[in-house]
Amino acid sequence: MFAEVAFPISNFKTFTYEIPKNLSPKTQIGSRVVAPFRGRQLQGIIVNILGKNSFKGKTRFIDELIDDYQVVTPELWKLINWISNYYMAPLGKVARTVFPKTLTTRYKPKTKWYVRSRHFIDSLSLNELKKRAPKQYEILKIVSSQSNSIEVSLLKKNSSNPLNICKALEKNKFVKLYKREIKPNSDSFSFKPVNKKITLDKYQKKVARTIKKALKSELYNPFLLHGVTGSGKTEIYINAVKHCLENGKTAIILLPEISLTPQISGRFKSVFGNKVALWHSKLTQRQRSWTWKEICKGNYHVVIGARSAVFSPLKKLGLVVIDEEQEGSFRQESPSPRYHARDVALMRARLNNSVILLGSATPSLESYYNYQNKKLKYLHLPSRYGGAKQPKVHLVDMLVEQEESGKFGQVISGFLQNKIEQRLKRKEQVILLQNRRGFSPIIKCGDCGEIMMCPDCNVAFSYHKKNNRFLCHFCGFSTVNENKCCPSCNSVNTRYFGAGTQKVETLLEETFPEALIERLDMDTINSGANITKILTAFNNGKIDILLGTQMIAKGLDFPNATLVGIINADQGLYLPDFRSGEKIFQLIYQASGRSGRHQKQGEVVMQTYSSSNPVIQCATKLDLNKYYEIVLKERKELDYPPFSWLSKIEVAGKNYQRTSQLVYNIYKKITGEYEGLSILGPAPCYIKKLRGYYRFQIIFKSQKANDPNGKKLHSFINNNFCKVQQKHQNEQSRINIHFDPLSLI
Ligand code: ADP
Ligand code: ZN
Ligand code: ZN
Repeated sequence: MFAEVAFPISNFKTFTYEIPKNLSPKTQIGSRVVAPFRGRQLQGIIVNILGKNSFKGKTRFIDELIDDYQVVTPELWKLINWISNYYMAPLGKVARTVFPKTLTTRYKPKTKWYVRSRHFIDSLSLNELKKRAPKQYEILKIVSSQSNSIEVSLLKKNSSNPLNICKALEKNKFVKLYKREIKPNSDSFSFKPVNKKITLDKYQKKVARTIKKALKSELYNPFLLHGVTGSGKTEIYINAVKHCLENGKTAIILLPEISLTPQISGRFKSVFGNKVALWHSKLTQRQRSWTWKEICKGNYHVVIGARSAVFSPLKKLGLVVIDEEQEGSFRQESPSPRYHARDVALMRARLNNSVILLGSATPSLESYYNYQNKKLKYLHLPSRYGGAKQPKVHLVDMLVEQEESGKFGQVISGFLQNKIEQRLKRKEQVILLQNRRGFSPIIKCGDCGEIMMCPDCNVAFSYHKKNNRFLCHFCGFSTVNENKCCPSCNSVNTRYFGAGTQKVETLLEETFPEALIERLDMDTINSGANITKILTAFNNGKIDILLGTQMIAKGLDFPNATLVGIINADQGLYLPDFRSGEKIFQLIYQASGRSGRHQKQGEVVMQTYSSSNPVIQCATKLDLNKYYEIVLKERKELDYPPFSWLSKIEVAGKNYQRTSQLVYNIYKKITGEYEGLSILGPAPCYIKKLRGYYRFQIIFKSQKANDPNGKKLHSFINNNFCKVQQKHQNEQSRINIHFDPLSLI
């Protein structure tokens, strides 16, 4: 028997190996294997099994199988093939993403020694032991005083080497000694489960009934669950999972942001206990290996996690929930496969005949359009649960504020300051959003005006107060700001402009010295436990002001938070991307949604320099319909998604001249243009240089009117670029295909 194996390389080719006789009964399509490849032992996946060898050269043997039993279900195998085909990524690379190399069902967790006394020890032998081996006697006394097993290492207080003593005791049949697997504990990622009485309101009931019926049908059922902030979407998810488990099926819940995990997983654990597994970037390797193996074994029925949780090897998948489905973090931009977890989830649900809920208060325009075109069924929760009102939004025009106060570059307006003071007096809590980390986003020479840039990227350094560093937010390069002088005039007169969360924190500390202030951003959360600590403290009223980036803008539910301040609503508004307005609108709407979610009326203060901008205007009114109307019209006029299909070819190289030549050569060779296709570029990317590579792009738009399912654009891109892409995946130059990219910058 022979197997065709795909490896995680940029090549789409597969390679033929012979299957050793002893492995052949266990070998299937989708089995993970180790095989010799270019002088190395490499992990690959079997894509086909053949009776005959069609390969002419010398055929080598597969070394071993990685798993003891099959983890790639037929549906997952189909999904891997779909991703490979749709996103034009080699099968081996997709397989490696779905089944990372470090995860195996053979994972052996750490073990600990335990000891337990045997009963019926006669006093004669006991006396004899006391005389012959007093140390053993001492230990035995402790062990037998306990009715349960005890951990051997706890006996270190009583003896320097308790294991040896216990081994001796076991030899004489006084005790039983054994090893127990230690489950890595990940409870610190979740809020403590609390039991809350849930009575669905009339809207929730209707939605829950529809979902229950869909789950019963065991057919593919995609829904858009559109519910305003605080309408009880999470309770709907929990209710749906309950019905799903009752039908003997499993569920995946995808969350867009690590900061949502503690609270939401706590709510799930209070209902489903240890059936729930968490899957996110802050797991340690041990937690990850354990969790994955237990999922494979069928010991978890619900997986809550980030983007890659969409690949959880759960069997009998009945339900997928994507919370905040509009979020860009569900898209993986790099490395290949460049996939969108929402679209992968839709496909997975289709292959598994499952129900899928795309939940949001601010649906993406794609999903909104898909609902209008009947690809998604619509479920609506129009009002907040329990009669809570929508917050009152105040807009502060910072230009007017500047004129009136005579203070330039103010970060916290007088109006916002007053509102914060009010809350502090009333013992209510404040959430402040500043969607930029670090101290200052711009570092400028005070003499010649030169802006400090990352040497590897065409991006300005941010100043970080901790360790006094200049940091590039794109590649992570950082340098210490010690007597750094300006590279162009040698001046040491460095000035810092703009405000990141660290600067806002400093200002808050000065303005409200008595307040307890905590900051939550990428720099403060070195561990998952730390996020949970901060959010728990806020939940328990131990923090007055919670300041943070987008991490705190969505999904969180704190009854006593009645004021949300958006320090700079314009952040990112003018980026040259067709989605920038949509993103800002959603962020503001979501952030506002954190305010006044329960009995107390909430308020939002939005500071802006662009008060007449339509995005800001609609956001102030929390007017979703109006905003969507405006954007859809704009997108239609310009043929942007959801009215077209989009693809982006990115060409990157170390040498500027050669890269620009390469992109032109590729462009000149494009063939097969068709009606409804437009080509933009080639042009340098918005960030012209990243991690030492110069970047160019060509954009392709294909009107849906002419290409209803995107097949025309897909085969056009496939024909023109798939082969070229493989040729350019080296140190000097790279060509990357993005299908359905989220952003054009
Ligand atoms: P969303 O996810 O839509 O923003 P949540 O699910 O967080 O809203 O609900 C907002 C608050 O209302 C939460 O504290 C939640 O527990 C509570 N809540 C929602 N529905 C119910 C219900 N049926 N019974 C009791 N409390 C509810
Ligand atoms: Zn200078
Ligand atoms: Zn950089």
